[in-house]
Amino acid sequence: MQTLKLRDGADMPQFGLGVWKTPNDIAAQVVAHALKSGYRHVDTAAVYGNEQGVGEGLKASGVARGDVFVTTKLWNADQGFDSTLRAFNESLKRLGTDYVDLYLIHWPAPKNDRFVDTWRALLQLKAEGRAKSIGVSNFEPEHLERLASETGELPVVNQIELHPTFQQRALRAFHASHGIATESWSPLGQGQLLTDPAIAAIAKAHGRSPAQVIIRWHLQSGLIVIPKSVTPARIDENAKVFDFVLSADQMAVLDGLDRKDGRIGPNPLTAD
Ligand code: NAD
Repeated sequence: MQTLKLRDGADMPQFGLGVWKTPNDIAAQVVAHALKSGYRHVDTAAVYGNEQGVGEGLKASGVARGDVFVTTKLWNADQGFDSTLRAFNESLKRLGTDYVDLYLIHWPAPKNDRFVDTWRALLQLKAEGRAKSIGVSNFEPEHLERLASETGELPVVNQIELHPTFQQRALRAFHASHGIATESWSPLGQGQLLTDPAIAAIAKAHGRSPAQVIIRWHLQSGLIVIPKSVTPARIDENAKVFDFVLSADQMAVLDGLDRKDGRIGPNPLTAD
């Protein structure tokens, strides 16, 4: 599995499985299937309500814990120093593991103004070795700058909404200048991009599916990508993206799909 070197030295698989909206009772099968089919990275969150199923899937797969990169996220209601430490312990218990590879603050929730204290708790978890790497999700430059100025430490990853119709170029440039890896959530635009005619034409030229072409665009753009599916055939299909390459012209076509109003999810500046 292709990895990216994070600023803290960790190797993060550039491709993984997203499990948002995957019910707890099927998460175990989905995760076990994905790991057996070659996935080595799973992205969950406390608020998804499926950490327990993810943990069962890890065990059922037979793949060694040390060979799988597990990300989970702290929910907004648990922000704050002590509450973060408590929520982290609960996540570990549900996952049935004694560490996570990456722990993220799910949203800045700026109205609550607790993300800096929350970040201090993540720094402690990292120092204890229980979160091997720490990062954030949905942070804008103004939030990242506060972490830097108030704690002197920036995250190694920011997981943000990113797909060909919402490419976040300014935020990616900020990340690049600070050594923050960019991870794309809703990389397929929640499935909405799969019928785009320009993507379909490139898919046809390669004898691939539109999903594979979009995942390939993320990989070739240096992004970490975590497409979601609960369907075994699609889970397998999405992982078959390491044996073809989009040409510079094809990358340019996908780059050209960017739109200012392409955001699907909430705006982090106003979401709580
Ligand atoms: P996605 O862009 O990965 O799209 C998933 C949907 O696309 C599926 O439900 C399915 O309908 C379709 N699909 C997937 N593979 C397909 C295939 N091969 N053929 C046809 N259709 C296919 O959407 P997502 O789930 O929103 O995002 C992926 C992951 O990102 C989530 O599961 C979650 O882990 C993460 N995420 C994080 C945040 C955050 O705030 N940090 C927000 C949203 C999602």
